[in-house]
Amino acid sequence: MSLFQCENCGCVENTALTCGHIKAEFYTKEFNWRTALGNREMRLCSACSPSKYANGKDAKKGGKWHGQFKRVFLPKGEFFTNRHGNLEHKETGSENYHLFEIEKP
Ligand SMILES: [Zn+2]
Repeated sequence: MSLFQCENCGCVENTALTCGHIKAEFYTKEFNWRTALGNREMRLCSACSPSKYANGKDAKKGGKWHGQFKRVFLPKGEFFTNRHGNLEHKETGSENYHLFEIEKP
């Protein structure tokens, strides 16, 4: 499990709580991407992930925020997942992403 920044909305997400970060073709084709806020090339949080499978059934982890922790928004593109599985600010090297929290875009 590690943290990453959603490439669509910029929020902090945990890989265990969304399927939107998995980019394997066999996996992404299981989903109806017209029901997603982002696209299949992006690493997506649960809220931006597809809400439906390709077969029309509801996706378990997509289409809504999971509610396991508060959704924190950060400036898009300014963070990456470091080798510890934490979010690191590219410019300052800080892992304390709360310092950079912004209002929902
Ligand atoms: Zn998102």
